[in-house]
Amino acid sequence: MSVTTRFAPSPTGYLHIGGARTALYSWLYARQNSGRFVLRIEDTDRERSTEESVQAILDGMAWLDLNADEPPVYQTARFDRYKALTQQLLDEGHAYHCYCTKDELETMREEARAAGRKPMYDGRCRSRTEPVPGIDPVVRFRSPDDGETAFDDMIKGRVVFQNRELDDLIIARGDGTPTYNFTVVVDDYEMGITHVIRGDDHVNNTPRQIQILQALGATVPIYAHVPMILGEDGKRLSKRHGAVGVMSYRDEGYLPEALLNYLVRLGWSHGDQEVFTREEMLEHFRIEQVQKGAGAFNPSKLAWINHQHMQTMDPARVLEHWRWHLDKAGIDTGNGPDPIDVIKSQRERCKTLVEMTEKSAFFWAPPTEYVDKAVKKWFKGDAQAVLADLLERFQALPEWTGEAAHGVVHAVVEARELGLGKVAQPIRVAISGDAVSPPIDETLALLGREQTEARIARAIEFLSERNAA
Ligand code: GLU
Repeated sequence: MSVTTRFAPSPTGYLHIGGARTALYSWLYARQNSGRFVLRIEDTDRERSTEESVQAILDGMAWLDLNADEPPVYQTARFDRYKALTQQLLDEGHAYHCYCTKDELETMREEARAAGRKPMYDGRCRSRTEPVPGIDPVVRFRSPDDGETAFDDMIKGRVVFQNRELDDLIIARGDGTPTYNFTVVVDDYEMGITHVIRGDDHVNNTPRQIQILQALGATVPIYAHVPMILGEDGKRLSKRHGAVGVMSYRDEGYLPEALLNYLVRLGWSHGDQEVFTREEMLEHFRIEQVQKGAGAFNPSKLAWINHQHMQTMDPARVLEHWRWHLDKAGIDTGNGPDPIDVIKSQRERCKTLVEMTEKSAFFWAPPTEYVDKAVKKWFKGDAQAVLADLLERFQALPEWTGEAAHGVVHAVVEARELGLGKVAQPIRVAISGDAVSPPIDETLALLGREQTEARIARAIEFLSERNAA
């Protein structure tokens, strides 16, 4: 059997991380089985669906590089199919028109409640032969009265529902528009979906969907219901827990590989391995091994995983993602060190791409001001003389290398009998505006002679102006 999976978000908000995890699992399962992965935008709820949400989903999927094999399918483009299949079910006696009014249904529910029964539609229109004038009827699916509907979920195992607990579901409203469960069924059928991997908030819809699929003569897909993601407090993940939209993780400087890695591990494990490349996920992930219970989102673990990927990923690929941040910060890397070299030098001490941007901006632009705290701490005493001494010795170097610059720093340390900090830190403040940078030899080699000397000269000027005032 050739595998086809789908990701079927409703565009009523951003692509949240629970959805992203479901998408990842579907994508992995399709790729592992040389199958197809399709994206279906479930936009029939016109009041809640927005263009921006559609775009957020497409952007999120593109950023995570969970590529689909076909252009996305929009449910709003398929109303004629839903109509045709509603008609088929009506013609074959699997569905019927229901003329019950709101009041009638309310009374029905109240009576059931009063008698201690579950409020369910009692099927009174099943045998109606005459239309009721003045009422646009809904269409209900005629579900079986007894027996059970069961399925073997790849994650949850066998799930059984008693048919008497399921009433006749509305599949088309009075205005002819299809309802949610029906569109899912028609699309899973016509798109040839073999494996439905989705959130377990849909488990209760599954027996109804199976019954309708069977009535349509479709092969019932295999289901895998993925447990929810909870916040650290055990409550359902929401905005309260911080960023839940996928793109906000990009904005905060996470690598998509890290987010995917974090999501694959949330509720699934492979020995004690924590860091997975995409290739490793494809090799080891097994949907059947996903745990049944909900997983809790742990932001510090995500940050840790991000840092691991920053350090182990090919720097050229890190740059592909970093470029977005550099552009956003208005940093032009055309003049100055190769950003690849900066990545190699910085990634051990930066947990996110945002942090790397902030800590590296000085490589391509001189500081516009010096951080107060750094000035107070390091531009004091004979800092001006130290910088002047350094500048003179730098200018005398026949060749600019990390080692040569380092040699100068140490020569000044010795000549002036100072601690290393008293020499290296004023240099850092002079070149970056603050007192943090990679090792001084690396930093100066990357920054280059011209910029180093110009910035030290500028700091000397600043200090002499200040000392004169
Ligand atoms: N559109 C549904 C949702 O966003 C998913 C439907 C499905 O996967 O069957 O929750």
